Amino acid sequence: MSNLIIAIVVAGIILGGPLTLFAVIKILARYFATPKAKIVALKDAPFAVVVDWDRESLPLEVFRVRVDFAELVRGGRSTSFSVTFADRASKKKSFALPIELNESDLAMIKDDKVDARTLKQSYFTIEIETADNQATRVRLPKRKVLETLKGEAFVPSSDVETLAPVKPDEWSLLTRVFPWRHAAAAAAAAAAIAPKAEAAEGAPKAAAAAAPQIADFVVTKVWIEPGCIVCDACENEAPDVFEVTSDTCIIRPNAPLGNALSIKAAAEGCPVNVIKYDTRPA
Ligand code: SF4
Repeated sequence: MSNLIIAIVVAGIILGGPLTLFAVIKILARYFATPKAKIVALKDAPFAVVVDWDRESLPLEVFRVRVDFAELVRGGRSTSFSVTFADRASKKKSFALPIELNESDLAMIKDDKVDARTLKQSYFTIEIETADNQATRVRLPKRKVLETLKGEAFVPSSDVETLAPVKPDEWSLLTRVFPWRHAAAAAAAAAAIAPKAEAAEGAPKAAAAAAPQIADFVVTKVWIEPGCIVCDACENEAPDVFEVTSDTCIIRPNAPLGNALSIKAAAEGCPVNVIKYDTRPA
C-alpha cells in the first residue's frame, strides 16, 4: 500500500512538476506539524487522553489539555474539564494522561444507551494548548471513543510517557444536565396520564400540577461572546437561531427568538458558556 502511495506521489511530481511537489509538501506538513490526540482506557485507568507528536519535527511544550463533550439526549448534557501542567512540568514529549473523573461524568461519557441519531451528533473536542499560546483542536465522534473505551486497554509505546493519574483542574469542571428540561419532560409525561387519574378519582388538582412547563419570559436579544469551540451543540438545539461556521458560531440574520426555552437550552448547553441572551417577562 505504501509503495502504491509513493508511486502515485512520484508520478504526480514528475507529471505535475513543482506545483504538485508544493502541494504534497503542504499536505504532509499539515499532517505532521500538528499533535494528534485520542481518548483511551489504560490498564489501570478507565479514561485517559493520549497526545502524540513527532518531537523531531515539532518541538512542542504542552501545558494544558482540555476536553469538551456535549450530547443532545433528551434534556441535553455536557461536560468540560482540563488538566494544566505547571510551567516547568509542561510536556515536551508524547504522553498518556489518565484523568480521574467523578463517577457521574464517567458514566455520562460511557453511556451507550443513546439513540443512533444522538450518537451521530455527539462529539468530544480535545484542545491542546502549548507554551507559545498555540491551540490545536481534535474532534472525536463519541461513537469512536466508545469503541476505544470498550476495547482492549491501550498500551502506550516506548515513545509515549504514561503520566500519573490526575484530577481535572478544580476550576475547570463544568458539567450540565439541563434540569429544567428534565422537569418539563416529567411534567409533560405526568400531564399525559393526569386526565385518566382525574376521571378516575375526580382530582382536578392533579392535572393542574402536571401541566407542561411554558416559558414565562421572552428572549429579546441573543449574542455569542468570544471563545466558541465549534462543538455544534447550539445549532443542533436551535438551528433557526444559531449557525456554526468553521471557526465560530453566529446568530443567523433575523433569527426567530420565539422559542425562548430552546435558546435557554442552547445557552445552558454551551460547554464554554459563550451564548448570552437578554429577556423580559412574557
Ligand atoms: S456557541 Fe457554544 S454551543 Fe455553540 S458551537 Fe460554540 S461552543 Fe458550541
